[in-house]
Amino acid sequence: MRQYERTVFCGAVTTAQLEKNVALCGWVHKRRDFGNLIFVDLRDRSGLIQLVFNPTTSPQAHADAHALRSEFVIAVTGVVTPRAPGMINSDLPTGQWEVQVESLTILNKAKVLPFSPEDTQVDEEMRLKYRYIDLRRPVMHENLALRSKVLFAAREFFIKEDFWEIETPILTKNTPEGAREFLVPSRGAKGEFYALPQSPQMYKQLLMASGIERYFQIARCFRDENTRADRQPEFTQLDLEMSFVQESDVIDLMERLFAFLWKRIFAQELPIPFMRMTYDRAFAEYGNDKPDMRFENTIHDCTPLFKNTELSFLHAVLDKGGKIGGIHLANTQFTRSEIDGWSDRVKELGGQGLLWVRIKEDGSLESPVAKFLPSTFFESACQVFSGLGPNSILFMVAGEYKPTWELLGKLRLALGEQLGLIPAGQFKFLWVTDFPLFEYDEQSKQWSAVHHPFTSPQAGWETQELGQMKARAYDVILNGIELGGGSIRIHDAQMQDKVFDLIGLTKQQAQKKFGFLLEAMELGFPPQGGLAIGVDRFIMLLTGSKSIREVIAFPKTASAYDLLMESPTIVPEEQLKDYGLCVIRKKEK
Ligand code: ASP
Repeated sequence: MRQYERTVFCGAVTTAQLEKNVALCGWVHKRRDFGNLIFVDLRDRSGLIQLVFNPTTSPQAHADAHALRSEFVIAVTGVVTPRAPGMINSDLPTGQWEVQVESLTILNKAKVLPFSPEDTQVDEEMRLKYRYIDLRRPVMHENLALRSKVLFAAREFFIKEDFWEIETPILTKNTPEGAREFLVPSRGAKGEFYALPQSPQMYKQLLMASGIERYFQIARCFRDENTRADRQPEFTQLDLEMSFVQESDVIDLMERLFAFLWKRIFAQELPIPFMRMTYDRAFAEYGNDKPDMRFENTIHDCTPLFKNTELSFLHAVLDKGGKIGGIHLANTQFTRSEIDGWSDRVKELGGQGLLWVRIKEDGSLESPVAKFLPSTFFESACQVFSGLGPNSILFMVAGEYKPTWELLGKLRLALGEQLGLIPAGQFKFLWVTDFPLFEYDEQSKQWSAVHHPFTSPQAGWETQELGQMKARAYDVILNGIELGGGSIRIHDAQMQDKVFDLIGLTKQQAQKKFGFLLEAMELGFPPQGGLAIGVDRFIMLLTGSKSIREVIAFPKTASAYDLLMESPTIVPEEQLKDYGLCVIRKKEK
């Protein structure tokens, strides 16, 4: 015989169970002892129901209920009855009913917990150390449930679209950006290492060489990067690849996927196609490659407004080929100290200072440099910014184009957030296209691929300078966050060779690292393209969470530490020997 039964979930009790016997299981959420009657809110994944222990009708259960404490795990049987009219709790879906308990089984006793699942102010370290308690909170259940629903719907979509779900290896090969890979030693091959994949990129390309045509995978990826606030060393990608496609095929498919998910998850129509923008325009107007399209206040080039300026600090910038960029804020009544605050913010962001001009109620100009502004300033500014008028303010920053525009991009986002310019509850998708193929890293004095070195260049690249070459790459952005990206790949060994050469890989290095791919490219390799979506970030946006850690069951800390299992750990010397490893230990201080 079973020790206990469950006939209904706590949150699923309805009139259908009224006056009927039920068996329930769950956690003691709260216990209130009124001497005569004891009330317990019983909680399981579905919600709460009130239990009543009555000494008259069930003396044994009532006596046992004295021992109950928060988070005990119990099973009960009893009868569902309506609550007395004054006792109905309209905040609770089951608030009209209660269960008159007939029998109680305590399945597990709990000590006093380090924190209650009801606490909302728990330190994140505690939450991660006792993640199983943290995850008992309804909001965490909702996040994980939504994640499951999205992944299920995505699978359904891809299977309907004739994709095959194929797993690719976790133990794989150390590749060029080796410094960012986790290495895995093996007892079988002492002194040699596998690497954990940063993405299934090369395998999915090889799957196209295998004639698979349409592949997808919900893939775990690993990056041993310097820690950053909202990064995880392991994360999940929704990864796909298709043969014989061009950019528009991948983009159309993804838009249909998102529309399908919106229907499934929110029962809403998502307008497609999404907006599209080139990388150059995104940078010129938003100061980054992932514009938040939920609000305007774009960056404008104000350099022409200061062509003949007498202001020496601006002269100095313009003489060096620098530019002046500005943002217009309409109908703002900043006080001087608020403007000073934004000035300080610009300096914190690395700028020389904030140049501001306010258009007063009467149309006259107010600015620390007002007397140096030409009399035609307002008219000229109206050519640059639309909607300029009384109570408008222009925030301008001067300097070298790239850093200045990056700064203005950050300033725009900070203004958007602090002035409440970003409407809540909106989802604004955008495709950014025509990325540069390569970027120059001042530190290493090397060119590298902006996406990855398997990305195909756009036509005309053979005759262009490295910095001018464009990639057949696309990123999908949601509310200013890069959800994912992909590209049309190189499918020709010579072109791939050339790209490796341009990023400084010698023939021998390329052969050693990617010989298998170069060879595959000479053995029947179809044109192909694909993309990967960052699942954690996507779910974070859908749930309105502040961090990806809120949508991952067992995340690591920002410094990549697992507080729950306490990992990574030191491995005993004996075990290291099995792997042929010897570790240089840091001296204890
Ligand atoms: N593998 C790429 C990434 O992880 C995505 C792609 O190009 O499909 O970013």
